[in-house]
Amino acid sequence: MIAVQQQTELIPKPQLAAPEPEHCPGPESEKAGQADACAGCPNQSICESLPKGPDPDIEIITKKLSSIKHKILVLSGKGGVGKSTFTSMLSWALAADQDLEVGAMDLDICGPSLPKMLGAEGETIHSSNSGWSPVYVSDNLGMMSIAFMLPDPNSAIIWRGNKKNGLIKQFLKDVDWGDLDYLVVDTPPGTSDEHLSVTTYMKDSGIDGALVVTTPQEVALLDVRKEIDFCRKAGIKVLGLVENMSGFVCPNCHGESKIFKPTTGGGAKLAKEMGIKFFGSVPLDPRIGRSCDSGESFLDSYPDSPACTAILSVVDALRDEIGDI
Ligand code: SF4
Repeated sequence: MIAVQQQTELIPKPQLAAPEPEHCPGPESEKAGQADACAGCPNQSICESLPKGPDPDIEIITKKLSSIKHKILVLSGKGGVGKSTFTSMLSWALAADQDLEVGAMDLDICGPSLPKMLGAEGETIHSSNSGWSPVYVSDNLGMMSIAFMLPDPNSAIIWRGNKKNGLIKQFLKDVDWGDLDYLVVDTPPGTSDEHLSVTTYMKDSGIDGALVVTTPQEVALLDVRKEIDFCRKAGIKVLGLVENMSGFVCPNCHGESKIFKPTTGGGAKLAKEMGIKFFGSVPLDPRIGRSCDSGESFLDSYPDSPACTAILSVVDALRDEIGDI
């Protein structure tokens, strides 16, 4: 952990006269000093004079990720739809194929939860000459979380965009994934500065696309439309949409009830409307939460459950979409 903190502090930063304001494009960006947010900023003259041009770190990140065949972003329009839960289950499901090497990367700075869900909470990460090594939670599933780089897991992260972006960049540059078939990336909810950073830094390394997670109610679907629009503007292919918490299947009687009612047609209708693939619906199952809390694979623990069947069918649809099966 100490090694990580030392490296994080090495992020080169221009000397600014004041903290970056909200919507700052980043003093290292091409728009530094010239964006709308720069008007009236005390750093404007400093930022205008900084060298501009393509970020040399993008080349380093591209090289670092070059031995990963498929890179998938998991996105959601809003928090609370089970994005990280789904990321963990997707990672376990891919790693169930022993012929695949899988990595799960947690870039959700404000709510990193993959270490707990994948059973790696409290692990110390190790650094070598080639970078930080992922924590292996099974023979062929490695994970790395930005949580390992944060000073205190219980403290709220109150950072401006540029500091968060610097940390994401450092993380992408320094993790040594080695050869992987899949890298599944858990991102923060919404369409924030961090999303722009992730997509900018990773774009040249070839992102296969995004898997978008929603719940059936219109309030979640509204934000999903924005997320899909973001992907289109950022040039990220939307691989497909998954509707999570889609009905509750009682583990005892197997009766199904709708907890979150799809008042406007749910994910399937939205996918049709937006011209994207619908990968399927995953029902609520309280055992999913319990498995995630104890860092175990729900798919291994409850292979006969309707939720497990639904998740595996989503994974098949995803692999089919990227031409892997
Ligand atoms: S890029 Fe520089 S001038 Fe523009 S908002 Fe950020 S800190 Fe201020």
